[in-house]
This record gives sequence, C-alpha cells and structure tokens, in this order.
Amino acid sequence: MVQIRLTNTRTRKKEDFIPLDASNVRLYLCGPTVYDRAHLGNARPVLVFDVLVRLLHHIHGADAVTYVRNFTDVDDKINAEAQRRKAAGAPGTLEDLIAERTQETIAWYHADMDALGALRPDHEPRATAYIAQMIAMIDNLIARGNAYAADGHVLFDVRSYPDYGQLSGRSVDDMIAGARVEVAPFKRDPMDFVLWKPSTDDLPGWDSPWGRGRPGWHIECSAMSAALLGPSFDIHGGGIDLQFPHHENEVAQSCCAHPDGQFANVWLHNEMLQVEGKKMSKSLGNFFTVRDLLDHRIAGEVIRYVLLSTHYRKPMDWTQAKADEARDIIWQWRLLTKGVEPGQPHPDVVDAIANDLNTPGAIAVLHRLKDDPATLLASARFIGLLQAGDDGWMQADYQALDNQADQPDFDQILAGLQEKLADIRTQAMASKDFSELDRVKAALTDAGLEVRMSKAGVELVMRPTTIQKQVVQIAQGLTS
Ligand SMILES: [Zn+2]
Repeated sequence: MVQIRLTNTRTRKKEDFIPLDASNVRLYLCGPTVYDRAHLGNARPVLVFDVLVRLLHHIHGADAVTYVRNFTDVDDKINAEAQRRKAAGAPGTLEDLIAERTQETIAWYHADMDALGALRPDHEPRATAYIAQMIAMIDNLIARGNAYAADGHVLFDVRSYPDYGQLSGRSVDDMIAGARVEVAPFKRDPMDFVLWKPSTDDLPGWDSPWGRGRPGWHIECSAMSAALLGPSFDIHGGGIDLQFPHHENEVAQSCCAHPDGQFANVWLHNEMLQVEGKKMSKSLGNFFTVRDLLDHRIAGEVIRYVLLSTHYRKPMDWTQAKADEARDIIWQWRLLTKGVEPGQPHPDVVDAIANDLNTPGAIAVLHRLKDDPATLLASARFIGLLQAGDDGWMQADYQALDNQADQPDFDQILAGLQEKLADIRTQAMASKDFSELDRVKAALTDAGLEVRMSKAGVELVMRPTTIQKQVVQIAQGLTS
C-alpha cells in the first residue's frame, strides 16, 4: 500500500501518516465566512484538501473518509452587510436579511468550488446550527477553570493552558511583546481571547448563561469538529494565516475541554497566494474572486492547474502568463484524450501526491504521458483535472472561434493589421525607436492575438481567447 507522508506543522516534521482509525479517516478544513464571493486565495486550501481527500479515497475508499468543512455564518461582516441592506430599504427583519445573505453566499461558494472540480465535503456544518454545542463547550471550559465570564463576555484564560503557543511556536510572553493586542479592561491577560460576547438588540444573538450574545469565531471550529469528528481526529488544515491565533486557540479550547482527546493529530497549512508577485489587495487593484476569473473565460480546471502547479507549502504566485500556458496545456491534453477510456493513474503520480501532496511533481509526470492517453487521463483525473463534463469551456471557445470566422471582414482586418504591423516594424528598425511597435504589439497581445515576429516577417495568430472586437478597434485606431 502507498505510504502517505505529510509535513505536520504541529511537530514541524515530514512524517508517515498513520490514521487513528483506517476505517474512518477524519479531516477538518476551516471553511469560508459567508459574506462575499470567495477570492482566489480562498480556493487554495480547498484544492490542497481536495487532492488529499482524493488520495485518501484512492487508498482507503471513499466510505472510509469523513471530510468536514464549516461555514462561518456568524460574523460582524455578515451583520454589517445585512444592516447596510436594511438601511437601503430592503424588506424583512435583520435576521431575514442575514439568512438571505448567507444562503446566497453559500450557493455562490458551492458553484465556484464545483467549477474548480473540488469534491463537496461529507459535512458542511453552519456555525448557527451548533450554538448549543458551543455554549456547552464554553460552560465546560469555565467549570474546568480554563475560562471566565466578565462583563457579559466569556474569555479563555491562556495562562491556564501551559501548551498555549506550541502550534505556532511562540510563548505567551513573546506574543504579548510582539503583538498589538486589544487590551480590554475585563481581560485577565492581554492574550485571553473571546469565547462569547454580548449582542446588542440590533444584532443576532442567542440566550446563554452569560446573557444574550454570540460566539467568538474560534470556538465554532472546536465545537463543530468535536460534534462531527470526535475529540481526536486525523488532519486539520487551513491557510498559514490561520495558524495564529485561530488554530492556536482551537487547540487550546479543544484540548482543555476534552483532556482525553488530542484534537488534530496532523496540522496541514498552506502558504499564501500572491498575484503577479504582489500581495492581493483591493487597493492595488489586483484583487479578484474565483468568479471574476470564470467570468473572464478562464476555465475552472485551468485555475486548478495553475494553483496545483506550486507546492502547497510554497507561496503561490498567480500570473496571467501561467493561466495562458495552463489553458494551452489543458486544451492539448483534452484533445489527446478525447474519446479515450481512462486507464489507471500512473504510480509515479500517486507516489508524488502521497509524498506530501507534491502536485508540481505529479504535473511533471503528466507531461511525460502524452503517448499514453489512457494513463494520462486517469492520472490527470487523480488530481481532479480533465474530469468528464468539465470541457464546456472548450465548446464555448470553439463557438467563439466559429462566430469570428463567420464574419467575412475579420480575416481581411487581420491581414491588414499584419501588413500595418510589418510597416511599423520596418520604421522602428530604421529609426531605432521601438515605442510605437511595442505599444501596438502589447495592445494586440492584450486582445488575445499571438504576435510572431521573425526575419521572415510578422504573423498574427488567432487564439481561442482572441477578442475580436478589441482587434477591430486596434485596426481602426491604426488606419484613422
Ligand atoms: Zn477554523
């Protein structure tokens, strides 16, 4: 049997993965806060876990794996969006508007992750359905002396748990020294974190022994994982940005509430995603959602390929160049495997994934399988690529090409452009001023044309992504 090895953040070692119970391998992934569309960075842990789950299915059988990913539907951002809608005159109570917002966001999330070929988890608990379990867990933590009520809040007492900081490798004193922590007067220690907080009348709230209020974020994953997977389970994952404080706090709560359990045996953290070498941010204008990419006709399996082409423990850089390259590769693989029955995944692909989810290694093997389409297909499907029914984007692109071909003028326009570009190039070489040539070339590339320049001349090549309208505009700009 294939031996899985995973880098365990808890022990900081790459270890053989031994399930606690091979007949029920249990995983938990921190899911989205459902107030808006998932951005591209949110997709990364989902795809990492999807590859892991597919591997576990392959080795243990799908029935022997339980995969849980939560929906955080209690959150200040959700409340703020609902309040904004109410202020704008939307009908219904605030609770109705919150439910409406979270339901629509969950539907978007499902559609977007489905488009990336991610399998749905076995359980997708919503935090609001587990408030009673959270209250019981908080109660238990108070009874055990790990939490205290103060000023309508309940706080976890970090000094009561000597291992606090072990997952992220920090001591409480270092954290206090290094962090800008909010020091509320009712906290015994600045690092104590909220388990429960009071709700004002205009916010959602639940009755509790500490008054009407709502849970803190961290407690929900502890309560839901315990309810669905038990006090000890195999693998817990999420982005590295969640390691502290979210995961550290989950460990503290869960281990104190269930001293006989060990919570997650293996912690898996993926590195962050950047865009064109920069941190994704709304102010830089390089922030986009999975849906933005899909709407720009970048197919889900193309996005998947790009994300899997970097190992999960390395920072990932999304670039348009990678997306273009991935598109051409997938296109080629789809043509090679058209009408082919899948064989068995290549053992090297399985081995690569078993070796700490080495997805770039697996992709490198796929590139060597072009002469064996049946194995290529099965191996690609092993990591969720080339799945049946996911080739709709190719049909759409063929159609776009056909539509463009139907327009008799377009070939002529293209030929004219090619001539014009050759002239500009001749002038540029004579004057040694290449600025106009560069400008036109960039505009044509941006419109999805491939610009080939050689000694023989200039050639403009249509690609599936060519935007005809834009090309026509460029041609008009050059002749006017
Ligand atoms: Zn979580």
